[in-house]
Amino acid sequence: MQAELLNGNFKKNNVRKKVKIAVAKGDGIGPEIMAATLKILKYAGANIEPSVIELGEQVYLSGNTSGIKTEAWETINDAKIILKAPVTTPQGKGYKSLNVTLRKSLGLFANVRPVSALHPYVKTNFPNMDVVIVRENEEDLYAGIEHQQTNDVVQCLKLITRPGCERIVRYAFEYARAFGRKKVTCMIKDNIMKLTDGLFHKVFVEIASEYPDIINESQIIDIGAAHLAAHPERFDVIVTSNLYGDIISDIVAEIGGSVGLAGSANIGKNIAMFEAIHGSAPDIAGKNIANPSGLLNAAINMLGYIGQTEVADKIKNAWLTTLEEGYHTADIYNNQYSVKKVSTSEFANAVIERLGETPQKLPKSEMAMGTGKITIPEYKRKEQHKQLLGVDVFIDWKGNNPEEIGDILTNISAFKLKLKMITNRGVKVYPKGLKETYCTDHWRCRFVAIDAEIATETPVYKPVEFEQVIALLSKLHNKGLDIIKTENLYEFDGKRAFSLGQGE
Ligand code: NAD
Repeated sequence: MQAELLNGNFKKNNVRKKVKIAVAKGDGIGPEIMAATLKILKYAGANIEPSVIELGEQVYLSGNTSGIKTEAWETINDAKIILKAPVTTPQGKGYKSLNVTLRKSLGLFANVRPVSALHPYVKTNFPNMDVVIVRENEEDLYAGIEHQQTNDVVQCLKLITRPGCERIVRYAFEYARAFGRKKVTCMIKDNIMKLTDGLFHKVFVEIASEYPDIINESQIIDIGAAHLAAHPERFDVIVTSNLYGDIISDIVAEIGGSVGLAGSANIGKNIAMFEAIHGSAPDIAGKNIANPSGLLNAAINMLGYIGQTEVADKIKNAWLTTLEEGYHTADIYNNQYSVKKVSTSEFANAVIERLGETPQKLPKSEMAMGTGKITIPEYKRKEQHKQLLGVDVFIDWKGNNPEEIGDILTNISAFKLKLKMITNRGVKVYPKGLKETYCTDHWRCRFVAIDAEIATETPVYKPVEFEQVIALLSKLHNKGLDIIKTENLYEFDGKRAFSLGQGE
């Protein structure tokens, strides 16, 4: 079975038929920018049937901790397309982010955020930037799996999966092809996170080889983000994991001119959600001064997705013409190119008046010319041979001398499982640690079966059985040690599948 995404599945059937859209009006400036956007869509002849769904602040405050009503899920499942204005998450009451809930519950794995300069009408230092960030939307540190393990230490699990990487990386290359883009850049930090970011990078290299027509490159996220902030015009499509993508997509929107301008698409296998990238801007809510362009751009992408590309172009071209002619909301108003500072509703009317016109200087929208069709194949798992080699036992211990806990643990073994090393916050502290290393109450104690003694440089790990791990844990527990967590150590297809301790 194939999942067809963006500019594909709706094209043939729905151009003449009204397409159901679940519409969330949102909070703060949400209702104002949604009214402006829907008015433009109506006058442009978008063939849609909006159904309003209830979610956001009022739903949270009514005692519904998810922030979304049950009936809203039904409308979403029926329509499969959501146009959503920003919502306010009430602060400090432990409410889960509605955006994360929607993305994860609906399997919206790709967050696509195009940002291009509108120079000189909207001020930016980067007149030639035209970047699309393709951000993985469901995994990574946003899996939301966090635990406090000791007095001193909390942890957040970073989950990167092969199906997740394959989907997002392939999506980025397919997007590049469908939209005539030339290059895809992968951003990772695999010099440090060799397994998680290493997998993302590895999958990128594998999939890139299937797209010889598209240039590919990889950058470490820290220097990559710096390059992006200083020379965004050197980038085309960027694909990255959830947290890095969250950060760099805001950087790109900001340096592009205004957070009020950009829209984003959240794409899943069966459902897609389109929204502005900014929040509910409570500071300017109710004043009719917000820029509706972010939501309008999201709606334009939505029309492209449902195959109504001609209407999408018509609106985009009218919007570009409005900006060129200097009708600007307060956030982008400037003395040089603005002719009139307009309100949200006046801006919408100005766009409506220009429907059918094309911009003179800014590049015009040509979605209808494209043959964009994105197909993501189903994931096929390649079975690997998995062999247990040992266990990392995490212990809550309040002492501060690694030699002391090291000596206790060296005397505890089960079958062939023996202590190899202890780390504290990932740094080896036993054997032969440095006394300068700061130690918390969180000790990772590695037990493996190796022939040679503890200090061997390149140990040969022997296979172990899980019964040996259970016996070891039982012995440690009987000695009064406080086990807080274990991680099994494996090799897959004969390759070590766990990181070494720093200094190991
Ligand atoms: P924000 O994006 O709402 O506002 C940041 C600044 O940008 C403010 O000064 C605001 O006035 C301005 N701004 C934003 N959109 C604008 C527009 N369309 N026109 C003109 N100016 C605009 O960010 P925030 O203040 O950090 O967050 C406010 C609320 O929005 C919070 O409750 C947050 O949780 C929520 N939020 C929601 C979403 C979403 O629903 N997708 C995204 C981000 C934040």
